[in-house]
Amino acid sequence: MSKIVDDVIAANKKYASSFGAKKELALPPARGFAILTCMDARLDPAKYAGLAEGDAHVIRNAGGRASDDAIRSLVISHKLLGTREWFVIHHSNCGMELFTDDVIGDLLEDNLDTAHFDGKAWSNPKHGGGASAGQFIKWLTIKNQRSSVVDDVRRIREHALVPGHIPIYGYVYEVHSGELVEVKEATLAGLPR
Ligand SMILES: [Zn+2]
Repeated sequence: MSKIVDDVIAANKKYASSFGAKKELALPPARGFAILTCMDARLDPAKYAGLAEGDAHVIRNAGGRASDDAIRSLVISHKLLGTREWFVIHHSNCGMELFTDDVIGDLLEDNLDTAHFDGKAWSNPKHGGGASAGQFIKWLTIKNQRSSVVDDVRRIREHALVPGHIPIYGYVYEVHSGELVEVKEATLAGLPR
C-alpha cells in the first residue's frame, strides 16, 4: 500500500478512537446552511467558517463554481436536508485563474501527466498519449474572483429549482490572511426574492 494510504488510515484510526458523541449526529445539517467553495488545499471550511461535524453542508469543486453538479447538491441540501442559507466562497490566488479552456484542452490533447507551470505558462514535461476529450469540456476557469462569485451567485439565484426565499451570500477567502471578504454585489444578487 502507498505511504499516502498508510498515513490516511493511521490518522483515521486515531480519529475514530475518540469519535464519542459524534455517533449521535443527525443527517440534516444542524446549523441549516451550505457552503460552495473551492477544493484548494489551503482552504479548510471547517476552520475558516467554524464548523463542527454535523453543522453544515460543504460542496467543493475546482474554483467553487456553480456547476450543474454543485447546483444538484445545493438543491438536495435544501429540498431534502433543510438548509436555508447558502454561501458561495471563492478565494484569492485560485488555480482556476491560471489557465483557459484552450490551455488545458491543448495540454491534455498532448499528454495526460501533470503539467509544469513556470509562473507564466504551462508546459508538458512529456509528450504523447493525450486525448482530445478535454477540448469538449467547459472547465469553468476564472478571470476575476469577485466577478466569478457574482456570476455563480446569480446563476444559483436564477436556477428554476432554487426557491426564491434562500439568501445566497458571496465571499472571497483571502489565502494570505484567512479572512472572508464579502462581495457585496454578489450578496445583493443573492438576496431573497
Ligand atoms: Zn481555487
